[in-house]
Amino acid sequence: MVSGTGRVLVLGGTGEARRLATALVADGVDVLSSLAGRVADPVLPPGEVRIGGFGGIEGLTAWLAENPVDAVVDATHPFATTMTASAAAAADLAGVPLLRLQRPGWTAQPGDDWRWVDSLEGAAAAVAGFDRVFLTTGRQGLAAFAGLTAHCLVRSVDPPEPPLPARTTVVLERGPFSLDDELALLREHAVEVVVTKDSGGSMTAAKLTAARELGLPVVLVRRPPLPEGVPVVATVDEALTWVRAGLDRASSVD
Ligand code: NAP
Repeated sequence: MVSGTGRVLVLGGTGEARRLATALVADGVDVLSSLAGRVADPVLPPGEVRIGGFGGIEGLTAWLAENPVDAVVDATHPFATTMTASAAAAADLAGVPLLRLQRPGWTAQPGDDWRWVDSLEGAAAAVAGFDRVFLTTGRQGLAAFAGLTAHCLVRSVDPPEPPLPARTTVVLERGPFSLDDELALLREHAVEVVVTKDSGGSMTAAKLTAARELGLPVVLVRRPPLPEGVPVVATVDEALTWVRAGLDRASSVD
């Protein structure tokens, strides 16, 4: 049910979510951004921010009943599967329009040696035989690589928690990363193979260019499928157009 409040909930944790919140706030829209609370010191968007899970589909449905909004934009990371599924189910139950904003995945270029897998476990299997592995899959899910005997370079924003591969070097850094920095890192650690999720976007794409320049293979984890029946856009501008049109409709019904 459209509430007529003019309020929009943005499920965030990505650069796109921050840019969308920034543009909506500049438009005078009442925006509430929601973050999972995974990062200790997150870059906050303008507007109101809430932090922490909703409590699954049931929790988000109840939250939407108590906190009416005219629209929800799910701008979470392409691999935030649980939140995306909860948003789809809860928005449907609550009768609130939902849009999925998801940046396009990466596309291989001439010279790339990309090896696609379906899961982090598949990625761990794909790097068997390499001795120096760069794991850029984020600090969650590293348990899938815990059995590796290779030397693993792990980069994440906050320190990763065990279980980790026995021989792990951790680099704590937040993107964006420049090509020069990525080349220097790959060379310094004598990396033989790079492992990444198909996150897409420019913030963390330099590692792919660096791998290409150094002739290194990249193991990419395929994106999980999107929930059915939810409209999807790839850019912040398209999401803005969708939100504006929805708010216009809601205010004319009011
Ligand atoms: P997830 O597995 O889909 O989410 C796990 C649980 O965290 C959800 O069920 C939900 O808890 C809570 N949650 C996730 N996103 C939330 C949000 N925006 N607001 C409130 N609660 C949220 O997702 P994840 O992979 O843990 O990612 C968590 C956050 O980090 C997301 O916001 C995502 O955009 C960001 N992120 C993820 C990745 C990645 O590779 N997965 C990379 C960069 C950034 P309840 O069930 O209790 O509601």
